[in-house]
Amino acid sequence: MATYFVTGGCGFIGSNFILAEIAKGHSIVNLDNLGYAANLDNLKDIANNDLYAFVKGDICDPKVIATILKTYKPDAVIHFAAESHVDNSISGPEIFIQTNVMGTYHMLEGARTFWNNNGRSKDFRFIHVSTDEVYGELEFDNVDKFDENTSYAPNSPYSASKAGSDHLARAWYHTYDLPVIITNCSNNYGPHQYKEKLIPNMITHALAGKKLPVYGQGLNIRDWIYVGDHCKGICLVLAKGKVGQSYCFGGNSERRNIDLVTQICGILDEIKPRRDGQSYNQQISFVTDRAGHDKRYAINDSKARAELGYSTDTSFDERLKTTIQWFLDNL
Ligand code: NAD
Repeated sequence: MATYFVTGGCGFIGSNFILAEIAKGHSIVNLDNLGYAANLDNLKDIANNDLYAFVKGDICDPKVIATILKTYKPDAVIHFAAESHVDNSISGPEIFIQTNVMGTYHMLEGARTFWNNNGRSKDFRFIHVSTDEVYGELEFDNVDKFDENTSYAPNSPYSASKAGSDHLARAWYHTYDLPVIITNCSNNYGPHQYKEKLIPNMITHALAGKKLPVYGQGLNIRDWIYVGDHCKGICLVLAKGKVGQSYCFGGNSERRNIDLVTQICGILDEIKPRRDGQSYNQQISFVTDRAGHDKRYAINDSKARAELGYSTDTSFDERLKTTIQWFLDNL
């Protein structure tokens, strides 16, 4: 059984990853500064588990990083912690540069020191969890998809800060041999996602009888991946990924935003109908588009399929329904 140092484990993807790994018997130490997107309830079921330790602290604090590494001697670092919401990066970019770029720098430097001082094990891994948004946008009518060879062309302060962190991670492998692997994943959905993101935002607004704000005409396309499939991909990278490489993960589920919101309304109509018998569709409201809104994202995950044996075993329609049910049960 392995010991993992997870950052940002109280957020959406990190908490799903931790629950899955503890269930397998691995040990986790989780560093999270409990920012606005963190939720300790995400991990309440394992809070007192002997395999789990939580440290409240910042990835920009080299002392706390060094102490965790020295104390727990992890087999791998899985670095999720980030500022993650594009809209926030447009209104206030500085914290994105600080957390995503400087925080990743401090994590890489901490890991490098630890690794150098502990025999430079070939089996040590630093997994840098990143996004497909670093590749910019695809055309609506383009059949092309992003893959590991796509040039970086980030368009938002968020994606630019993640691109910067990816470049640092890559450089720490090439310059210092630190066993780094980067993952670039499409839009995740599932339990524990913070309410600011599209799917939980629509569910909470719908239930509160509020308008469902859809940017522009809702034509932008995202490739949705179930969070459990993303976590499964990260595990495969830990087990079989080649150091110095990057791996793209997607859900093969491209949806226009308006179609996704309409589908959410349809599911809610079925499982939590409005008292007046009307469809939640009535609440859809088109709002001024996001500045620099990327048109389309889509992932070609054939490298992960071929090299890691990655596959998505969940149907989007089924998982969207269980995700909505989870929010109904946990709101
Ligand atoms: P999230 O916003 O839900 O969680 C981020 C977590 O990091 C929070 O618990 C927060 O408290 C913590 N954090 C933030 N700044 C910190 C700091 N300075 N020190 C310590 N902890 C800090 O994010 P998420 O959706 O779970 O995303 C996790 C990672 O996956 C991010 O790196 C993101 O870029 C990447 N990613 C997300 C998606 C997606 O669709 N959500 C897709 C691809 C990649």
